[in-house]
Amino acid sequence: MKADNKRNNNGIFLKLENIKKYFPVQKSLIDQIFAGKIDYVRAVDDVTIHIKRGEAFGLAGESGSGKTTIGRLAIGLETLTEGTVIFDGIDLGKLTAEELRKLRRRMQVIFQDPMASLNPRMSLGDAVMQGLKIHYPEKSAEHRDMVLTLFEKVGLTPPLFYYNKYPHQISGGQRQRIVIARALITRPDLVLADEPVAMADVSVRALLLDLMVQLKKEFDLTYLYITHDLATAKYICDRIGILYLGKLAEIGTVQEVYQHPMHPYTKALLAAVPVQDPKKRRTEPMPKGEIPNSINPPSGCRFHPRCPIAKKDCAKKEPILREILPGHIVACHYAETNL
Ligand code: SF4
Repeated sequence: MKADNKRNNNGIFLKLENIKKYFPVQKSLIDQIFAGKIDYVRAVDDVTIHIKRGEAFGLAGESGSGKTTIGRLAIGLETLTEGTVIFDGIDLGKLTAEELRKLRRRMQVIFQDPMASLNPRMSLGDAVMQGLKIHYPEKSAEHRDMVLTLFEKVGLTPPLFYYNKYPHQISGGQRQRIVIARALITRPDLVLADEPVAMADVSVRALLLDLMVQLKKEFDLTYLYITHDLATAKYICDRIGILYLGKLAEIGTVQEVYQHPMHPYTKALLAAVPVQDPKKRRTEPMPKGEIPNSINPPSGCRFHPRCPIAKKDCAKKEPILREILPGHIVACHYAETNL
């Protein structure tokens, strides 16, 4: 089925081109009349990312960086303020609601909180079968077997033991396996994994990440992996984009960005990642203060009020993304000196 869907897009499977998402700020009628203008939260502010088929691309940053909004825009769960999202050659902005609904079979989500995303009154078998009922109604006689086979693949064995159970009767790690099975049951091409192991116990995180790596190979998946945790991103991603206040600060292969981070924000995030060998611990200072308000982002470089190496011109001139090393792109006036 996947082979039929493949198109020639020069290897780019998901293209986010200059995307913006501004949310209007809710105000009282009186405030609206006196203010005379609408304020917007600039959640995503001109971001371009190209993801290849079969790639695991990570988006990382603090909360408020815009990573979850980008994920939702990428699969058409949010409408764009500006820009385009091209999925396998298809411009999502030009689809009707019905066309987008049909395309959803190929774009599925693994949510962060399995308890919140599963219906407590629906058995695990029924929860996973929902996608088949919507997208493959003609195969209803095979639905049960398809669910049982997938239970086995995600490590819920014996599958019949889990089929009629309910979410509260299994562990958190097993619930996340159900959420993974529910995402994969429609045989998607793209999976948006939004902090997929953040709620899991530390002891089961590595097992779930291993499972995701294995399923990616087996199902020929492309991942958009959203996280605030650079340690898990390193484990699963091929490339990573570091976001700050709705803009990309740095982008490159995981190997390159983790070994030679050039943006002070990336350096600070990496310094917070625990390492086994204390000699290998990074010592960069953490950013000062909190992430600023994205209604009125700081002038020039948005990171300048928190940047430990900011200079005078940083508050005046906005840095553009520049390719400093092959495939390693950074938005900092002083990226070269940070090497
Ligand atoms: Fe820091 Fe200036 Fe680079 Fe921004 S442009 S990250 S403020 S050094």
